[in-house]
Amino acid sequence: MVIVKRKTLSLAERLYLPEVVRGLSITFRKLFQPKITRQYPEDPLPTTSVTRGQPRLVVKDDGNIACVSCGLCEAACPAYAITIDGHETDRSIEREPEEFQIDMLRCILCGFCEEACPKDAIFMSNELELADTTRSALVYDLERLKRPAAALAERMDYIKRINKRWQTSSST
Ligand code: SF4
Ligand code: SF4
Repeated sequence: MVIVKRKTLSLAERLYLPEVVRGLSITFRKLFQPKITRQYPEDPLPTTSVTRGQPRLVVKDDGNIACVSCGLCEAACPAYAITIDGHETDRSIEREPEEFQIDMLRCILCGFCEEACPKDAIFMSNELELADTTRSALVYDLERLKRPAAALAERMDYIKRINKRWQTSSST
């Protein structure tokens, strides 16, 4: 049998006074520091090109969607959030999505779809707001996912820079 010898506590320790004093000193210190409360949503979260918001589909300058309905993003999505239904087109790309859905309640904003896409057709936007009254309203369809390339330009440039860094380091 092991006997554990306990430390003898002073009266102050038995009344938790050191912890109380330490806690109150932190409280008083914080009282005089600048407040960091954000007045959300009037004061939204700042975003940068590194921000991984909700994924969006690129609409090129000629008005066509960049997606060729290859399904790679659907396969890469770990949350099974993407559903694509493709069809043939008369254009040179041959295929494009007839329906493209992302269940935003499933999406974990991991960015795998962005990485998997061979056509630079899907990018993580800086859109972070997500609220609605029904679950079905948060399954975004093709029209809700489309964004002009200009709206995603900052993120596209950032990803291009990152990929270039990989290409450089792998070739050396
Ligand atoms: S960000 Fe991740 S979870 Fe969301 S749709 Fe893309 S791959 Fe799926
Ligand atoms: S990986 Fe790109 S091109 Fe392929 S289906 Fe997804 S968004 Fe479209």
